[in-house]
Amino acid sequence: MHIEPSFTKRYHKALSDKVMIKAVKLGTGRLRGKRADAIQAVGEKRWQEFRNRAEAIRLHVVQHLDQYLEQLVDNVLKKGGHVCLARTGDEAVEYIKNLAQKKNAKNIVKSKSMVTEEIHLNPALEKMGCKVIESDLGEWIIQLANETPSHIIVPAMHKNRFQVADLFNEVRGDEPKIPAETAELCAFARKYLRKTFMNIDLGITGCNFAVADSGAITICTNEGNARIVSALSSTLVTVMGMERILPSVEELAVMLSLLARSATGQKITVYNTLSAGIRAEMELDGPQEFHLVIVDNGRSKLLGSKYEKVLNCIRCGSCLNACPVYRNIGGHAYGWVYPGPIGAVLSPLLQGLDKYGELAYATTLCGACHTACPVKIPLHDMLYALRNDKVELEKKGELMEDLTYKGWSAAFASMSRYRFSIRMARRFQFPLVKAGKIAFGPPPISDWLKYRDMPALADEFFHEIWPELSKEGKEK
Ligand code: SF4
Repeated sequence: MHIEPSFTKRYHKALSDKVMIKAVKLGTGRLRGKRADAIQAVGEKRWQEFRNRAEAIRLHVVQHLDQYLEQLVDNVLKKGGHVCLARTGDEAVEYIKNLAQKKNAKNIVKSKSMVTEEIHLNPALEKMGCKVIESDLGEWIIQLANETPSHIIVPAMHKNRFQVADLFNEVRGDEPKIPAETAELCAFARKYLRKTFMNIDLGITGCNFAVADSGAITICTNEGNARIVSALSSTLVTVMGMERILPSVEELAVMLSLLARSATGQKITVYNTLSAGIRAEMELDGPQEFHLVIVDNGRSKLLGSKYEKVLNCIRCGSCLNACPVYRNIGGHAYGWVYPGPIGAVLSPLLQGLDKYGELAYATTLCGACHTACPVKIPLHDMLYALRNDKVELEKKGELMEDLTYKGWSAAFASMSRYRFSIRMARRFQFPLVKAGKIAFGPPPISDWLKYRDMPALADEFFHEIWPELSKEGKEK
């Protein structure tokens, strides 16, 4: 999938894709509705208590990450697993490639994992001749379309059933075409993917939470595919971001409940799989060899910084559904793996402000993402701080913009100057006014006006007519 380097080009492309916009609005609307129902069922007061508890848990873990990482690694090793602490995405990919080579793995079956998208694992494995199959339905759809996820929990949210039917019919080749009916599409995917489970050389999963005091890995799915991958793979690799840790199952209970309600409005995800280490004696399934790959890839440099709280994220996708910008441009316009408000913060922090700094402007700063976030990450404050960092990095504001704001500030600092300046503006605005609106103008407001109208200044200002109005009011 070709990704335009410029955010402006990406969002322009997105805004012209009517099918995508309709699908994303429908999908995010449904998820928002289900989340609202779930909160109503719990009660607003209890929900806020839940959020406070979850925030406190995540803050504590991130502040003691070194300690919990050490405990997790010890417990995974004790249970017969291997651990790779990868400083970069490349190190993680290299480790998994070597393992695939050692195991002579031809068929690799994966369950959904955003961090493997982040480190570009699939293309690296495919390049060495492995067949990689995504077993999550949404991930499989975008794999067939050669695209990246457009939503954190619903990767193919941008596609409608007709597009999915076309992709599946391509897989079917000469077999009779299946209609674009959801039940038939799901039945076909289930049958096709089931076959791949019977033949796994190497299984790869993501990780929702790793439990430090037991070394258990928790994976939540509604399709059960991660459970099958982890049960049937003789060699299993789990890839996790280094911050996805919880101290014990006590905290896990809080987070699982909050994750499901925030993501899909469910009380609990259908399959919550906890597995630790390798298959024990007398156990009927589970891996004989287990590798946990813990990926840093820029996360540790956020510790102790003003952006540390972004590591509290549990990838529920709720901020995407709440964001008016995401709902109009979809996920691919964000350019990297993580879309929406969390992506607009994470991408520049993990991949560089020079490459993804423009995403800090993909927001109205309305704060809806913060309100929706179950762990209360102040995403809107971070987006604002990133804008400042970007200006600081480039060591330049636009000259005209600087002058405009300085002039505006000087005019608005005194009543007489303010009144004089708006009278002048009213007098000289006429060449720019069309049908009562200012629809175009000179730089720097020309860019702003490209996408918005501004009401023309009124013939009479309120402060000019107020003395007359107040006199009339008193007389009545
Ligand atoms: S930032 Fe908050 S709302 Fe957004 S994905 Fe992360 S946990 Fe969910």
